[in-house]
Amino acid sequence: MIPIIAQYCMECKEWIEDSDTHKCSKDSWVLADKEMVGIADRLYGMGIVPTTAMWGATELGTAKDHEYFLTLEINLRRRINESVLDKLPEGWKFHWETVTPDQSPVKMLAYTGRWINVGLKSLDERIAELIQEFEEFLDSKDSEAIKAVLLLMP
Ligand SMILES: [Zn+2]
Repeated sequence: MIPIIAQYCMECKEWIEDSDTHKCSKDSWVLADKEMVGIADRLYGMGIVPTTAMWGATELGTAKDHEYFLTLEINLRRRINESVLDKLPEGWKFHWETVTPDQSPVKMLAYTGRWINVGLKSLDERIAELIQEFEEFLDSKDSEAIKAVLLLMP
């Protein structure tokens, strides 16, 4: 599975084929891997607007296809009060640090974790599983209530 990155509109829930003619505001566009749009759609529905949503896998160690560092990274349009999502699933965290050389603030929701391939599932299956688990976590939330709370916050 190779990440396929493209512009996706979370308002119409469609891939943007022609960015010059697409009718929606760019505020509803996300640069996403195709596997990540389910997460992007759910966050957007809560008023937590992503700008990018991508996954990555870096092989660790010397044994081929054995150990990986996995990331699911969602950059957000603005900082939100993270208490609206309550306790995040294991490995997930908000990042608000200013670590970039130009001091631009990081506004990110991300999963990071090591994964050892013991042969029970493939890397693709592990990525799909992490994505599905986070989608289920988001589905367990009241998105309308979260959206309303975020609108009241500065
Ligand atoms: Zn659109």
